[in-house]
Amino acid sequence: MSRKMMAYRMVEWQKPPQMAEAEIPEPHPGEVLVKVAGNGLCHSDIGMQAIPREIGELIGWQMPFTLGHEIGGWIEALGEGVQGLAIGDPVALVSPHSCGTCFFCLRGHDNACDQGFVGRGYGRDGGLAPYVIAKAAREVIKLKTLDPVTVGPLTDAGATSYHAVKRVLPRLYPGCTAVVIGAGGLGSFAIQYLRVLSPARVIAVDANSARLDFARELGAHEVLKGVSGSTVSDILRLTENRGAAAVLDFVGINETIEAGIAAVHKNGAFALVGAGGGTLAKPWYGSLPKGAEIFTFQGPTIADTHEVIALVEAGLVRNEVEIFPFSRVREAYEALESGRLKGRAVVTPNG
Ligand code: NAD
Ligand code: ZN
Repeated sequence: MSRKMMAYRMVEWQKPPQMAEAEIPEPHPGEVLVKVAGNGLCHSDIGMQAIPREIGELIGWQMPFTLGHEIGGWIEALGEGVQGLAIGDPVALVSPHSCGTCFFCLRGHDNACDQGFVGRGYGRDGGLAPYVIAKAAREVIKLKTLDPVTVGPLTDAGATSYHAVKRVLPRLYPGCTAVVIGAGGLGSFAIQYLRVLSPARVIAVDANSARLDFARELGAHEVLKGVSGSTVSDILRLTENRGAAAVLDFVGINETIEAGIAAVHKNGAFALVGAGGGTLAKPWYGSLPKGAEIFTFQGPTIADTHEVIALVEAGLVRNEVEIFPFSRVREAYEALESGRLKGRAVVTPNG
């Protein structure tokens, strides 16, 4: 007999999400049912509301679906054959979906899985509901010390920004500079990883002064208000006219891509992480930094997620959150969109 719950759902293409009834799912073999302790809100959730039906259906999304892809919780029920987990265990859920068997998954690039377009909270039911389903073997990380209420943001904001930083690490050397554009949810983690894992001097760039104050608190050496016409010259001034060894763009609009690439020095790296819809259009000669790596990706790997949780468990990185009860989910999204948050907003669907 099916049981019902209230969930915060996308119910129609290009319409705002709403509270609506959903079924409490049953775990199939190999799956677990997780009671959601906390779900972090990501700017991507807001971007999903712009996706037209043609695109959504093309990539396999099914409407309606429950939002939320940054999930911590407790094991509520075990599907047949699940081993190594027990009811009540505190867990975090790996955010991107991956099949485990495609060409890319088998090479450890599970964030590039052939089936990765559809996952929990994007095209399929996510964590803004009292219960959610996860695959036990690939998607469940048992927590040692962290609180499942606050762990959610580590699985996407924390782990996606970690993926970007890890990828540029080989290009960072003592005396170099790394720039983080967009010091929001993802960017605030990136600043911390750069400080913990690299010798780089860190410059944070954000349009919001409050974000820049927080960036300094997290270890940024310099902050710049922008992106504006003077951002590139400011970065050059701070780097003996050389430019940065790496620029991580967590905004991804034309202005940030343009400024970000212009600020990278030869053999550096530019990571386009923000899904702001910008365009990269450059002639190959003269306007791209020679020898540099320019890359984009979606979401973290399973390994990234484990490593980020270990870093926070070791006390090396802060996970600042602001908790909102389920009844205030809409207000929490508004706070994210208007830049009023200090920490990542986490919504608690069970209390
Ligand atoms: P957020 O709202 O918490 O942070 C965005 C930050 O960028 C804010 O501090 C904001 O003030 C700043 N900003 C916005 N416009 C700016 C501009 N023109 N110049 C300078 N700063 C500006 O958002 P978030 O949750 O950290 O997500 C950041 C981006 O990353 C979003 O576009 C999101 O969709 C994307 N994202 C991508 C992936 C991926 O896998 N590639 C994963 C998660 C999120
Ligand atoms: Zn795969």
